[in-house]
Amino acid sequence: MREGSVAKTSSAPGTTGADAAELGGLHDALSRIAPALDEFLRFGDADRAVERRAEWLAALDKPLPETGAGLDAVLDDLEHWIVPNGMRSPHPGFLAYIMGRATTAAVTASLAGQVAGHFRYFLTSFNFLEQLSLRWLAELCQLPADHYGVYSSGGSTANLLAMGAARQHAFERVGVDVGADGLPEGAKGRIYGGTEVHHTIHRAAGVLGLGRRAFRAVSSDASGRVDPSAVDRAIRDDTAAGLVPVAIVGLAGATATGAVDDLARLADVAESHGVWLHVDGAYGLPAACVPELRPMFAGLERADSTIVDPHKWLGTPAGCAATYVRDGTLLERAFQQDPAPYLETFTPQTPVSQFDDQGPHWYDRSVELSSPARGAWVWAVLREIGVEGIRDRVRRHVGFANHIADRAAEHPRLELVVPPSLSIVCFRYLREGMNDEAANAVNERVMQTLRAETSLIPSTAKLSGKLAIRPVFVNPATTLAEVDGLVDAVVNVGDGLTGND
Ligand SMILES: *Cc1c(COP(=O)(O)O)cnc(C)c1O
Repeated sequence: MREGSVAKTSSAPGTTGADAAELGGLHDALSRIAPALDEFLRFGDADRAVERRAEWLAALDKPLPETGAGLDAVLDDLEHWIVPNGMRSPHPGFLAYIMGRATTAAVTASLAGQVAGHFRYFLTSFNFLEQLSLRWLAELCQLPADHYGVYSSGGSTANLLAMGAARQHAFERVGVDVGADGLPEGAKGRIYGGTEVHHTIHRAAGVLGLGRRAFRAVSSDASGRVDPSAVDRAIRDDTAAGLVPVAIVGLAGATATGAVDDLARLADVAESHGVWLHVDGAYGLPAACVPELRPMFAGLERADSTIVDPHKWLGTPAGCAATYVRDGTLLERAFQQDPAPYLETFTPQTPVSQFDDQGPHWYDRSVELSSPARGAWVWAVLREIGVEGIRDRVRRHVGFANHIADRAAEHPRLELVVPPSLSIVCFRYLREGMNDEAANAVNERVMQTLRAETSLIPSTAKLSGKLAIRPVFVNPATTLAEVDGLVDAVVNVGDGLTGND
């Protein structure tokens, strides 16, 4: 040992007995849990979780333990009660909401990160992957390479960050540093978009002090695409009335219909007013990696901010979104933490320890500080199957939506409610002479029957008064068998409810 240096402690965690918690033994713990997880993914009797509810509730619903039961008891509960009664959303027939399914590579990378890359600071391999995967993700999604990217927990926070940058930009134009000083007295900001804009935008406006009602929904067409000239008129009117236009929100994949706004025309409107253009691609943006779908996203590169959720179509664990902003310093002025005694910053010439350098200060461009090393999740996904694998998945899923559209268009008792743009399709059971009210009641009951009697679980969307059955294809496990199975089941159940044909 060099003179003056301090010996590093050599006792192995988990064997010292210094703490009540086991700190090692991962091999054994995972060997117990992994078979239960694999069994869960075979979905043998996953449908029985509700039937067994009283049983597992009784096993789990215990008072706060004064004395710990030990690791074995934890593993036992996980193996017997928790995992088998978990959420069967990874099932190939689960087509509801926009949930995705975490792939093995991504789950494993996430676990590895929880052990060896606990946080997103310092000079570690995990934090290098954050920067690398943000670059890869931008390239996959056809975003300009020089936009600043930052991860957060989901589309909700990703939209919040983007709207924070937009608000900063809008008020700096009138000489106010809103991040530092807050909104000027009496100032009213406005955010513009179509009727299908996700309500996390409204909430972001609320959190940012603009108020949820700052979102002004302008008219959209039947598929949910906003009318850019209506946005233009709204901004003109509001500016004349002394309101502050903060952002236009374009959708790269509307949540209900999958529609993609005319981003190039929205960019024209945004530029003509000097207003921020935000593109919400939480669900749909990965489709931009498919050459034949790319024209739909024309104008994307002109956005001031963009978001995408790798936990939807890309198959990372839940809790992963990226915000990209043309000028990252706006994020910093919007969200930086002012200096604090516990936030020591240092940048030595040549780091010796990994703790000599905190790495990029993303936490001054976000609303997070402690958070998992999500870069490894996205890296694992892309390293495993590459752009080709994602492209195949997107093509397959868009194909499924079109397949249902074709079947619905041809079938005498199905109606295609909105033609698909990406991998979402809205259709319904409909008999001749049935009005919307009657059709809605039938489709509601079709949905209940699907949930009760099958493992095919779409969700619904109410569009122009019509309750549509809305399967979303983002689950890598789904095959044509589930797709056709769903259409057949809707017809059979609908026929059964309305009298056989
Ligand atoms: C899902 C979704 C969101 C919200 O994302 P979370 O990750 O669920 O917070 C926002 N915008 C769009 C278009 C979405 O589809």
